[in-house]
Amino acid sequence: MGEQAFRAHQVMKWIHQQGVTDFDQMTNLSKLLRARLKELAKVELPEVVQELDSADGTRKWLIRMIGGSCIETVFIPVEGRGTLCVSSQIGCSLDCSFCATGKQGFNRDLTTAEIVAQLWLALKSFGSFEPKATRAVTNVVLMGMGEPLLNFDNVVDAVNLMMDDHAYGLSKRRVTLSTSGVVPELDRLARFTDVSLAISLHAPNDALRDQLVPLNKKYPIARLLESTRNYLKQLPDNHRRATIEYTLIEGINDQPEHARELAILLSDVPCKINLIPFNPFAGVGYQKVSEVNLRRFQKILLEAGYTVTVRTTRGDDIAAACGQLAGAVNDRTRRSERYQALSGSIS
Ligand code: SF4
Repeated sequence: MGEQAFRAHQVMKWIHQQGVTDFDQMTNLSKLLRARLKELAKVELPEVVQELDSADGTRKWLIRMIGGSCIETVFIPVEGRGTLCVSSQIGCSLDCSFCATGKQGFNRDLTTAEIVAQLWLALKSFGSFEPKATRAVTNVVLMGMGEPLLNFDNVVDAVNLMMDDHAYGLSKRRVTLSTSGVVPELDRLARFTDVSLAISLHAPNDALRDQLVPLNKKYPIARLLESTRNYLKQLPDNHRRATIEYTLIEGINDQPEHARELAILLSDVPCKINLIPFNPFAGVGYQKVSEVNLRRFQKILLEAGYTVTVRTTRGDDIAAACGQLAGAVNDRTRRSERYQALSGSIS
């Protein structure tokens, strides 16, 4: 628009730090500039169809995007942190065998605005834009619906905005992109962002991973881990580790031999391991891992010297747990009234 760069920063701060969506309220811009902005742009928000609260503090939003399809966003509070699990696509084309999102097929990529809007709506929901309010959301993970690296440009712009000091200012260690292994895109990721990385591995060998994550047939484990190492090496602070996500499914990938194989496989990957007990959903043939198998699996990895966390299942009473997101509308806890003033989408 021929304006100076600091004007863009002013607008970014209004929208992303103060939650202001009306150009007329951006009082440090001249009246002329506000009028031009109104002519050229608009700020709209997606419609929150439902907001559901779990007994454990997890909150899930069902959000309707332009075109009518819905996505889900989940907030998970854990010990002083608030993690927002954000979707990057409507549905997903990759059809991992343990994932509800994969079962519904692929609809379309989300725009950068639609990805960032999920963070904006969550902050609004918790009153985080109010003066002196503390930020409810401290961490963002792109682990909701969709494969982020198949929506590369929009996802990169969104995570960079989340980490930008003129916008949300989240630390690069607190914004994590999770991929099931789109290797060509992972190979070029470091040229565009230094977001933290999680790898959805779920199996210690190709034969098993081919069954769980069909994309593995195209980009096998050795290639994925090589690309992961290369990404970490290119980061400006090269002490960062990837998070290896491993969903434990009873009788499928939870045996001691799987843990030992995993320990050897990851020996030259700077990483920590996050074990996720599988969350069953309607129509899937898998079972949740038993506590005995989970702890035995964890112990083998701990003894091999890894940092191993176990993700507590959160929000399963509102179908907000890992792998359960499917964008379905149901009748529980309708709260859309609070958001009627916010309908639309950020653009
Ligand atoms: S696990 Fe991720 S990549 Fe696999 S089908 Fe589900 S959303 Fe897609």
